Amino acid sequence: MANPRKRVPENVPGDFFVDSTCIDCDTCRQIAPAVFGEAPGTSFVKAQPVAGADRRTALRALLACPTGSIGCLGDDDVKAVTEDFPLVVEEPVFYCGYNSPEVIRRQQLPRPAPRRQLADRFPEVRDAARAAVRGTGRHRPTSS
Ligand code: SF4
Repeated sequence: MANPRKRVPENVPGDFFVDSTCIDCDTCRQIAPAVFGEAPGTSFVKAQPVAGADRRTALRALLACPTGSIGCLGDDDVKAVTEDFPLVVEEPVFYCGYNSPEVIRRQQLPRPAPRRQLADRFPEVRDAARAAVRGTGRHRPTSS
């Protein structure tokens, strides 16, 4: 639950806000780019959603925020918005919308991540890559 007393100063006035627990994962900016903007190390509300459809989109971002850093002081029916998930990206691809802070941390690798560092941090990725290479036959020693 976002804390209105911890609003980041970049928020424009209004009932939607981002608080200081934001981990700058980009989720809200992807879901509601007209509402959420990017400042150094945080998102913030750059434009308060007014129309019903815009508020609903902002509430989807609120629900998808992995750290509960988005608050809404309005009387919107947040529970009804849970029924919007999973969101259709493009059939048959869906966005489940419920993000884990751990998954987000894994997405926040330094870019560009050195290949060696990636393999060290995520051995399952390394193993999957090796299996894929084996499957295609690439890098197999050639027999003469
Ligand atoms: S979804 Fe939450 S944690 Fe991620 S950038 Fe937006 S406010 Fe920050």
